[in-house]
Amino acid sequence: MAFVADTSLRDRLPEADQERWPALVTEWGVIEAAVADEVILPMARDNPKMMVLSRDNFIDHRREHPWIEDHPERFLAWQMNGDSIAFVPSGVKPEPLQRVSREKEDKLVHAAGLARSVLRTRWSCGDPYCTAAMTRQGELLLWPVADTEGRARCPFCEGLLAAIGPREQTKQLVLCDMAGAELLRFPIEAGVDVVIGRGRAIFGVGIDSLPSPPERHGRISRQHLLLRLRPDGCVTAVDLGSANGTRIHRAGAPPGDGARLEPHTAVTLGGHDLLSLARSVRVYVSGQRYPVGDDRTWSGRSEPPRTEIESEGTT
Ligand SMILES: [Zn+2]
Repeated sequence: MAFVADTSLRDRLPEADQERWPALVTEWGVIEAAVADEVILPMARDNPKMMVLSRDNFIDHRREHPWIEDHPERFLAWQMNGDSIAFVPSGVKPEPLQRVSREKEDKLVHAAGLARSVLRTRWSCGDPYCTAAMTRQGELLLWPVADTEGRARCPFCEGLLAAIGPREQTKQLVLCDMAGAELLRFPIEAGVDVVIGRGRAIFGVGIDSLPSPPERHGRISRQHLLLRLRPDGCVTAVDLGSANGTRIHRAGAPPGDGARLEPHTAVTLGGHDLLSLARSVRVYVSGQRYPVGDDRTWSGRSEPPRTEIESEGTT
């Protein structure tokens, strides 16, 4: 038998038990881990006779541990019946992959200190001298960062942001270089188009202003590509008559350059389609909605990329 506990359990116990806890840790040989699941599941996987006693169904771990769904009988929860404890099946059952991804994303969002409510709100920076405040209607294009109290702050000036309304529907776009290294994640919202270009893009992302601009970014046109989230949830892309073109590589198509987009003609992007702009930068729609990843959790404090933005009407 092995006892595994989250390190944070110490602080969550009632005061009387907190004093007894260190003695129990020694007596029972409790293994304390920052995330107990990450100790419990590999241990159970490698010891097929072990049962897992937990109220958690480990939905967010199903991808890494496919054996869980094959052995629901190994997962038990407990019920108090007066003074006695009964062990009952904890109810592990197969879950759709989409639910697994959502659960995982929820945990990552929580760990990064970004509440869902923060990510479902449109924010505006009130500092008139802040780059973010110079966007159209002052709306923040990038994701907010969370401070230690979970409040939304401006990624440019770190000032507190003002909520200007709900985000009804958001998808997340990812910019990467031609080798696939990620440069930026940003939300796109129905009704708010995003232009990718070079220099001063109107309400968009200036590729040459990124902290590490990709190779050949000089080939990207000032107004290169427009991205739009339609109310039905599809993302469309329009090449704005760029000099060096935009190519689309459809998911499942044989490797190659892909087809060049007709200028000024909207195409719908599928989940795994890849756009390449002037063979310098790639864009795709992320399967996740929020700025967290498996291997690279949003720090909330990283240096924000500069997006050069101006309001319509000024030059
Ligand atoms: Zn700001």
